[in-house]
Amino acid sequence: MTRLRQAALLGLLLPALALAQGPPPSGPVTLVRTGRVFDAEAGRMVEGQDLLIRGDRIEAVGTGLDAPDGATVLDLRRYTVLPGLIDAHTHLLYLEEPNSSLMEGGMKAVLTEGLPLRALRGATRAKTFLDAGITTVRDLGNSGRFGDQALRRAIDEGTLPGPRIIGSGPGLSPDGGQFPDLLHPHQGLVAEEYRIVRGPGDAVAAVREAVAQGAGVVKVYADNTPGRLSLTDEELAAVVGEARRLGVPVAAHATLDDAIRRAAESGVSSIEHAYMASDSTFAAMARLGVAYVPTEIDSVTVRGYFEATTDFAPEEIDRRVTGYLGWSRDRIRRAHAAGVRIVAGSDAYLDAGRPQGEVAKRMLWAYLGAGIPAAEVLQAATIRAGALLGRDDLGVLRPGALADLVAVEGDPLEDFDSLEQVRLVMKGGAVAHDAR
Ligand SMILES: [Zn+2]
Repeated sequence: MTRLRQAALLGLLLPALALAQGPPPSGPVTLVRTGRVFDAEAGRMVEGQDLLIRGDRIEAVGTGLDAPDGATVLDLRRYTVLPGLIDAHTHLLYLEEPNSSLMEGGMKAVLTEGLPLRALRGATRAKTFLDAGITTVRDLGNSGRFGDQALRRAIDEGTLPGPRIIGSGPGLSPDGGQFPDLLHPHQGLVAEEYRIVRGPGDAVAAVREAVAQGAGVVKVYADNTPGRLSLTDEELAAVVGEARRLGVPVAAHATLDDAIRRAAESGVSSIEHAYMASDSTFAAMARLGVAYVPTEIDSVTVRGYFEATTDFAPEEIDRRVTGYLGWSRDRIRRAHAAGVRIVAGSDAYLDAGRPQGEVAKRMLWAYLGAGIPAAEVLQAATIRAGALLGRDDLGVLRPGALADLVAVEGDPLEDFDSLEQVRLVMKGGAVAHDAR
């Protein structure tokens, strides 16, 4: 008996076929009345909109919608409602002391914490993202051997509250991963945190391993800073080719100009960091349609790190904050001027002594500080991030989209700091956080 016939006899196939045609919308019905909503496609606010939600999706958007019989009415007319925010670069299972290093933090995670403890801590961290209004994260490795997938499953099945996770599993890296100082006899430890790739055939196998475990994105280290190695063009092409065949986008860590350009030319979906990108490389990214995820830190957070971890005099802290911001903002400005599509991603893995989700959200102020218009910053964390995930039902408030939304005090296009005043978060049609 074939598997297919067995499945048919057991009646397993019929629900699957019905699902393929799209199930009829069902579930609780909520009519949300808003003060205004952010139209992510147009990049503007629209006053007085109502959202009709059935089950986990938006069914209708408009003015003066009637509440169907039995519907719950959620009155958010005092607030601005945005699509749930998306952070396209997180590490929920990893937190590092600000004056430590990836090497030290990684060894601590691998040798003294272990995956169960990391996943439990990650669960607590995940909730802080949801509370901050971040309803989806793209989690890019440093989660041991697929700890991100365990957390994703626990959240998806409703065991734990948290944002929707699109996770990569261990990042595909040249030898050594991001543990450059690990002595040769101990190199086996690298495989606890990274998937070492040796040759194009192995790269294809690594992509399949990740997707088989539930990865919704492939993370590849075009170069493995702080290590000194990089993948070859053939290895990058093999990763991209197999990921494309399996319908999964590729996020490439790349910091040196050569690796950034080669990763972009190989067809990855996004470049993460791009610290040393030249103008011509940004122009190539724009031409090739490769997104840029600037993992930058805003002025408030960077100052906090210096104050918490150094005993520098205030003038010295000022000098260093100014130095960092000059370096960081120049890069964002050059990418923006070249026409590169910027997508929000925090990479907030340093412990700032505050809820991690709040720290992550401050990435938006880093982009704003570089001169990106507020509406575009919001698009970078909504519709553009959804597109990078290959999802047209995330990051938008329109019929058919998932009912992920965040209500904030005031109007973020008038006063961006109002994004700090989160009053309600809904994920998949259910209220996940209510601070009204
Ligand atoms: Zn990262």
